[in-house]
Amino acid sequence: MIYQGKAFKVLALEDGIVELRFDLEGESVNKFNQLAIEDLNAAIEAIKADSSVQGVVLTSGKDGVFIVGADIMEFTSTFKQADEELMNMVLSVNKVFNGLEDLDMPTVAAINGSALGGGFEVCLAADFRVISTKGGVGLPEVKLGIYPGWGGTVRLPRLIGADNAVEWIAGGREQKPAAALKVGAVDAVVAPEKLLESAISLVKSALSGDLDFRARKEEKKAPLKLPMLESLMVFETCMGVVRQQAGPNIPAPVAAVKTIKKHAELPRDEAIEVEAKGFVKLAKTPEADVFVNLFLNDQMLKKKAKGMAKIASKVEKAAVLGAGIMGGGIAYQSAYKGTPILMKDIAQEGLDLGLTEATKLLSKRVARGRMDPAKMGQVLNSIVPTLSYSEFKDVDVVVEAVVENVKVKKAVLADVENHVREDAVLTSNTSTISITELAKDLKRPENFCGMHFFNPVHAMPLVEVIRGEKTSDKTVATVVAYAQKMGKTAIVVNDCPGFLVNRVLFPYFGGFASLVKDGANFHKVDKVMERFGWPMGPAYLLDVVGIDTGFHAEQVMAEGFPDRMTRDWKSAMDVMYEAGRFGQKTGSGFYKYEMDKKGKPKKLVDDSVPALISGVVGEAKEFDDQEIIERMMVPLCMETIRAYEDGIVATPAEADLALLNGIGFPIFRGGALKYIDTMGVDTFVELADKYAHISPLYAPTEKLREMARAGKTFYGV
Ligand code: NAD
Repeated sequence: MIYQGKAFKVLALEDGIVELRFDLEGESVNKFNQLAIEDLNAAIEAIKADSSVQGVVLTSGKDGVFIVGADIMEFTSTFKQADEELMNMVLSVNKVFNGLEDLDMPTVAAINGSALGGGFEVCLAADFRVISTKGGVGLPEVKLGIYPGWGGTVRLPRLIGADNAVEWIAGGREQKPAAALKVGAVDAVVAPEKLLESAISLVKSALSGDLDFRARKEEKKAPLKLPMLESLMVFETCMGVVRQQAGPNIPAPVAAVKTIKKHAELPRDEAIEVEAKGFVKLAKTPEADVFVNLFLNDQMLKKKAKGMAKIASKVEKAAVLGAGIMGGGIAYQSAYKGTPILMKDIAQEGLDLGLTEATKLLSKRVARGRMDPAKMGQVLNSIVPTLSYSEFKDVDVVVEAVVENVKVKKAVLADVENHVREDAVLTSNTSTISITELAKDLKRPENFCGMHFFNPVHAMPLVEVIRGEKTSDKTVATVVAYAQKMGKTAIVVNDCPGFLVNRVLFPYFGGFASLVKDGANFHKVDKVMERFGWPMGPAYLLDVVGIDTGFHAEQVMAEGFPDRMTRDWKSAMDVMYEAGRFGQKTGSGFYKYEMDKKGKPKKLVDDSVPALISGVVGEAKEFDDQEIIERMMVPLCMETIRAYEDGIVATPAEADLALLNGIGFPIFRGGALKYIDTMGVDTFVELADKYAHISPLYAPTEKLREMARAGKTFYGV
């Protein structure tokens, strides 16, 4: 043993070749924290001091994971430090990585699993990289609102070319071994059991002169090799694409391209300084703060789900009742993700429709090369259409998705309860009916909860798991696990009208209704809210959800929260409803729709709408963008606060994740509560007070006022 620390060890292998093994003590994965960086530095010093060492193989002592990256918890807390301190931290890590690169001997990274972020950047500091077929590499920093700051933007373009590097860094995706080999990010892909042997053999080839390891080092330390004109073109093209993909509100990918361009003509050490300066700037942006917060929220949710999984029952076979829009989608998603499912309807046409929909979705995947045709058959075979309960005895979970009618649902649930095992879990996909109410006639209400999917099921990532008064923890845990198995983000909420997401969405529509009543142009409202970051504006969203669905749900919400969700005036949506303009599905609503060549509905301006709604809208008035945003966002945010205060959702993190995954809340704003934190709770209270005369939807709660007075925030920082 040449060196032994708490994170790194240096062990002799053969012929003067040593293994530099990362195996962080007390952790299941390797990550770079301060201790590991210092330890790596000490290990490199020990290698330098031992004249018998001829070459180095960098390995991981963790199974299946190489290095997941920087320790986000520790690392991102440094983002709050003064610029100079942050800069020093970044440069000191770079110094250690440069130390590895500058060793006067061949170095090879033997990547056995995921090498991400800083974990891949350290591999880039090695001369060669060999990866197991089970490995993966990537620089996902943009997902945290930053870009690689430990030499990644410098070394990667010098290794794989500026165009490839931009794609990798701006996209932030983990790359499979074959893709990495193709562009030259790794030098070989081998079976896991051959990894160490191959790495040693690479070192030997370098030592014998078959491979020029010094040329490798020099290539990475020299300016980027690009003829002037070509370089201009590469960056111009990349910039356009990246800007378009990231949108105007996410700065990190564009900043990465600019940085690569800026340091292209510089040698390594100067280039790294340029990278570090840009990194410090990015780390201080509100977007980085939001994305880091999102990462932490995700981690928290995963941890919670892991805890619940301990008491969850296995779900090996499911059933869905109702093969309509939702039932068909649920059957597809369950089967596609590996849980066979019975699909029961009362009508053969219903079953045929459900299967046709599933076949369409699968064919699309196959056509795009995202599914093996053989697998398509398998998935389809695991959706079993049926008109009877005869095969329900071994079903673990049932999702009821029949028509939205309390009597029908109660009858169907009571019926199915007699055909399943006593420990089977029953759920309802209702959007508006109380789960506690639906449970009332059940023999085993503890085995029942809500499982609220969003339309279209295959595309929408959220499932609200709704706990009724009598729902057991085991039932909730089982349904959360099933939702996760279906590839969904599950958020557990308590029962109330609209549950969490619709309860919060309808006040937003309320804000829209009153804006239009006060003379705002709905096209402008849509445009402003889309620029604010929503995937679609409120009028368009109502058309997509369905005006009839919106109309009925609004009534349920008004009954549930009469103090603030009722109104005594007719809205533009009411007019649409009365005119039978139910939105996209009927070809007209706030907009009109025509099928494009691909068979997708295309939104068009409908000139007849202004006259149609003229009776319910006031005199046309020009609202500035900021007022539109405030009048739309305050009711949504206020209702999120109320739902949180009422205990409908347990944490700000879960509330925000539900909005991001359920209704497309602008991701770079982090969710309603993070949005309020970013603007300041006191500023938000002032805003809410400013508009409180419009409707009680805007009025701040007493608790919120207290928070503002005490200088508190939702995320407690
Ligand atoms: P749908 O009308 O498309 O489908 C309902 C299906 O249920 C039909 O195929 C019908 O034949 C079948 N059905 C009726 N009675 C039945 C019974 N006794 N047993 C078995 N099947 C029966 O409706 P949908 O849009 O799929 O909605 C289903 C449920 O999902 C509703 O509760 C709805 O509120 C909820 N939901 C809908 C959406 C949406 O956007 N469509 C979103 C979330 C939740």
